Amino acid sequence: MDAIFKKSFGEESLLRENNKKEIFNVMVEIEEQRDLIFHFLKGGEIIFVNNAFCHYFSKKREEIIGLNFARLIFKDDKELVKKHLSTLSRSNPVLNLEYRMIVFDGRVRWYRWVKKAFFNDNKELIEIQAIGQDITEIKTVEIDRQQLNEELLEKNKDLEQIIYAASHDLRSPLVNIQGFSKEIEYSLNELNNILLDLNKNSNKKRLLTIIDNDIPDSLKYIQKSVKKMDSILYGLLKLSRTERASLNIVKLDINNLISDVLHNFEFLIKEKNIKVEVNKLPVCKGDPLQISQVFSNLVDNAIKYFHPERQNIIKITGRKKEQNAIYCIEDNGLGISEKNQNRIFEIFYRINPERSEGEGLGLNIVRKILYRHGGKIWLKSKEGFGSKFFISLPSI
Ligand code: ADP
Repeated sequence: MDAIFKKSFGEESLLRENNKKEIFNVMVEIEEQRDLIFHFLKGGEIIFVNNAFCHYFSKKREEIIGLNFARLIFKDDKELVKKHLSTLSRSNPVLNLEYRMIVFDGRVRWYRWVKKAFFNDNKELIEIQAIGQDITEIKTVEIDRQQLNEELLEKNKDLEQIIYAASHDLRSPLVNIQGFSKEIEYSLNELNNILLDLNKNSNKKRLLTIIDNDIPDSLKYIQKSVKKMDSILYGLLKLSRTERASLNIVKLDINNLISDVLHNFEFLIKEKNIKVEVNKLPVCKGDPLQISQVFSNLVDNAIKYFHPERQNIIKITGRKKEQNAIYCIEDNGLGISEKNQNRIFEIFYRINPERSEGEGLGLNIVRKILYRHGGKIWLKSKEGFGSKFFISLPSI
């Protein structure tokens, strides 16, 4: 123990000769603790570890002493730990912190630590003590629960939007149907009265107007509204099918998949004189039908929301980033204002409903498909200049 004591608390230590004995007793107590305990200097160098720590990490004390503790922190948590440690002060010397560390065999585990800072007479921080436990099991349950909650919230939001759509979007065609049916009823009453009094010339003229214009007009509006309701209901059906369809995950050659998608848009691309550039794209994993749907919806939008006053260009690029393949579908079309950039993923949301032919479902479907694949979608756009839609999918 004395050797450990000397090794751990050398010249740099804040501890003085006169209280070494007292500290020695504390050290014995620390050694018997089941909690993981280590001390490190301001710069991160580990100067002490207890038995439990060595045992837990299956390392000899000499192998750990001298290591920089920052090296053991999981990369995504390094900043957080650094930020919190920088808040330690004489008036606020204790800190509770949860973060991930890399066990020596490469596994990443969660720990809960209480950090206590020690200062010298010049008020300088010289050493930090960390006492902690492995909380991976608790954390996994917590993260799963959090994820489940987020999914539930997302589902609730979707449901609210569907209820809104059903009560709002489906109501307006219904109101039209009701209104124009009344018009037909009114025209029929008029016809009845005219038929009773057929001899007047003016009546004949009115009769012709009712038969040639009034009734056909009303029927036209009724049919248009029925078509609208039908397409909304079809959209809802498509949405629910997308969510329920089973996934057949395979390796996907996205260049091949894109060329099939573009083939379906050949006519529109020619008609609008749009230039399309496709780079060499990385492969990824996904369900071929659903991922085709993703690219198809994005290309469809890039074509639909083209800018009528310039040469339109659609560029499709991709790169690998860590475990993912990231693709970008870029257009120089109408672009999307900042306030609409989140809303366009909502069910039935369209920026200019009177000017676009869509149903406001395409991006919502894309987001759902990607979510099921463990991917995501985000965008950068400037109104009047164009948009870049990025998607990430797990790579091979
Ligand atoms: P829609 O069927 O209406 O196209 P989406 O969900 O695909 O539905 O898109 C929602 C809205 O987002 C569209 O109505 C459109 O206003 C806007 N939008 C989508 N993609 C683009 C784009 N590439 N450029 C400009 N606006 C876009």
